Amino acid sequence: KLHNTILELKGNIRVFCRVRPFITDGNEYDGSVVSFPTSTDLVGRGIDLTNQTQSYSFTFDRVFGPNSSQQDVFVEISQLVQSALDGYKVCIFAYGQTGSGKTYTMMGRRSSEDEKGVIPRSLHQIFETTRALTSEGWEYSMQASMLEIYNETIRDLLLSGRPGVGPETSNSKQYNIKHDQSGNTIVSDLTIEEVHSQGDVDRILRQAEQSRSVGRTQMNEQSSRSHCVFTLRISGINKKTEQQVQGVLNLIDLAGSERLAKSGATGDRLKETQAINKSLSALSDVIFSLAKKEDHVPFRNSKLTYLLQPCLGGDSKTLMFVNVSPEASSAGETLCSLRFAARVN
Ligand code: ADP
Ligand code: MG
Repeated sequence: KLHNTILELKGNIRVFCRVRPFITDGNEYDGSVVSFPTSTDLVGRGIDLTNQTQSYSFTFDRVFGPNSSQQDVFVEISQLVQSALDGYKVCIFAYGQTGSGKTYTMMGRRSSEDEKGVIPRSLHQIFETTRALTSEGWEYSMQASMLEIYNETIRDLLLSGRPGVGPETSNSKQYNIKHDQSGNTIVSDLTIEEVHSQGDVDRILRQAEQSRSVGRTQMNEQSSRSHCVFTLRISGINKKTEQQVQGVLNLIDLAGSERLAKSGATGDRLKETQAINKSLSALSDVIFSLAKKEDHVPFRNSKLTYLLQPCLGGDSKTLMFVNVSPEASSAGETLCSLRFAARVN
């Protein structure tokens, strides 16, 4: 029996596991391979790389079973979102195979108030809090950007919604990543939108979704194979005390983590998978070496880690959701995702 006990809260990195409900998509229910004895433990059956069936148990900072609501999840992260307003740099990732619930967790269903995900709920909370703080003399300005990293290339998701500008224009730009002396990331040519209200945010999310789906038809279901990064920069100044804060909230829907089938992948598909594997393992390496407080952190090994560099080290805060599917048919990928998460925790 494989045991894997993870110590709570190593440094500033936390890992939450979320198991989505069983979905009938024409398949018969093949049984669940996971169960949740406590709010932090997950036990299950998996298939390892040598095709052996294994029992396992993992401990995370929190485990959300299939019946947990978007609100149940948000309650556990609202403090972390709040710390971006207090001047921290925060990253929240969703990791997992395609179909495991990453986008549901981060974005949710826009049509249903109850099913909105982490991104709209975080922004709602930030607007509520900043409004309440105006009576204490605080004034905030907020800037949002949204980009996609596909095959190690950045694409601006807020560009193509502009009149007369298509996504192909976005692709032809360079989008160089730089870090300034105060630890801010600057992506050249990237669209940055001032946001003042929930309405501004809704518009941005709609626009990003539209540019993602344009990409999807043109570039063959690309969205599950790209990382989507939403960034909110928050600057606050208190007119009474002259106190200042600058925080950043990064909300990241990662590319699907599924391994390549042993046969069949060639050309573009092979290149894509290699790029994903490279950047997900670069992310794991970075988080792992930060947790171990190693001197050299390999930020430069991928666009994603280089982009997020100032928000991953130092006194920044990181949360990783590992999203898993409960079906027996996903047992192998589920074990892989849990092992990945156990390594970074
Ligand atoms: P991913 O982004 O990881 O590929 P999705 O978020 O698109 O996966 O989820 C796959 C499907 O499962 C979608 O139809 C989504 O609405 C549904 N789903 C995922 N998680 C949940 C959940 N916790 N509750 C209800 N439906 C979910
Ligand atoms: Mg998705």
